[in-house]
Amino acid sequence: MSIDAKNMMEDFVQMHLNAVLKQFPDMCKCEQCMADAKALALNNLPSRYVTSHKGNVFVRVQSSTDTEVLNILREVTMAVEKVAANPHHSK
Ligand SMILES: [Zn+2]
Repeated sequence: MSIDAKNMMEDFVQMHLNAVLKQFPDMCKCEQCMADAKALALNNLPSRYVTSHKGNVFVRVQSSTDTEVLNILREVTMAVEKVAANPHHSK
């Protein structure tokens, strides 16, 4: 694996998305809706690029602050609500 830049925010959003979805048991969980929710949340959050070296991301940037976690949770919840109310595909 080569050295590359990676947006940690994608991992944070994915992680919180799984948690938030448990509060929306009726929501469509197809790939399209999951991708839509993730994209919506990421568009409203700052990117957090880090470089990895041989696959190891520097540990110090992996943890997010409490404020950041609340921010991410809020954006992810709003994104899920939006997609649940208006999915991009027909039922
Ligand atoms: Zn769907």
